[in-house]
Amino acid sequence: ADLRNLVSDDWVPKNWDISHELGTGNFSEVKLGIEVKEGKKYAMKIIDKKKFLQFQHKRGSVLSLNDEADMMKSLSHPNIVTCRTWFQTEAHMYIALELVEGGDLLKNLLEDGCFQEVQAARIFLMICNAVSYLHERQLVHRDLKPENILLTSKDRETMVAKLADFGLARQNLKSRDCRTFCGTPHYFAPEVITTFTDTNTKAGYGKEVDMWSLGVILYILLSSTPPFEEEGLYNQIVEGRYEFDVQEWTCVSPEAKELVQQMMTVSPSKRINIQQALNHPWLKFVRFTPTPMR
Ligand code: ADP
Ligand code: MG
Repeated sequence: ADLRNLVSDDWVPKNWDISHELGTGNFSEVKLGIEVKEGKKYAMKIIDKKKFLQFQHKRGSVLSLNDEADMMKSLSHPNIVTCRTWFQTEAHMYIALELVEGGDLLKNLLEDGCFQEVQAARIFLMICNAVSYLHERQLVHRDLKPENILLTSKDRETMVAKLADFGLARQNLKSRDCRTFCGTPHYFAPEVITTFTDTNTKAGYGKEVDMWSLGVILYILLSSTPPFEEEGLYNQIVEGRYEFDVQEWTCVSPEAKELVQQMMTVSPSKRINIQQALNHPWLKFVRFTPTPMR
């Protein structure tokens, strides 16, 4: 085990005032944390080391506890949550993150419903810029979903989106060789599923999985409904069975639908990459439109 930055249990409350919960995930709780000396606020991600290591072991994965914090510390982008510092006790890993006060995108969608197209394009462009920054550095996030996209406010005209949760992110040295079954079922790319259900495939998967997940996110942003149903989920994904003929899609422009389709393309080699997505007319349009179009 990596014992860097190991502190005693009583060091934590002396240096950090940790209070109410901001959110939870699989092995972690995120709480408001105030650094006692400076009085500055952070989001403290507290990971249960035992749970994390058991899960890693079961998956045969080689991720270490501090990989997430180290990776975040190496990144610098306006649409990616920054990491101030990390430390660990016997039982927990603490990661002090930039506090993003508007909640996550899932909460926002549940509270206020789908986004108008201009607002969706504005937010989606920020998310794509963050993904482009990662892909340029050969990093794959692998867990893109609304819960992992944080917002600086609740006002959709002015909010800034920041990508969070680098718990599954990987540097993919050779493309298409991530082979761990991870992520969240609804956002799984088809090749993630086939790699693990079909023992004959040797493909593995790479950056393309993020593009698929971006497509699912855009689908949800514009309709506030998921593209796939719970029942028979994997089959629907592998066959790319999703529809736009539901009521939620009637007012959405053909350009937006086209972009969703180009990202949610079953074959990873035919799926568009992040640069092509950024050049898509639907996203280009927002960039050059100073006033909202309705
Ligand atoms: P996990 O890896 O367990 O999924 P996340 O890093 O995704 O943990 O954090 C879980 C939740 O905590 C997020 O969905 C979000 O609601 C909240 N959260 C995470 N980071 C921050 C932050 N920097 N500022 C505010 N809230 C956050
Ligand atoms: Mg998460």
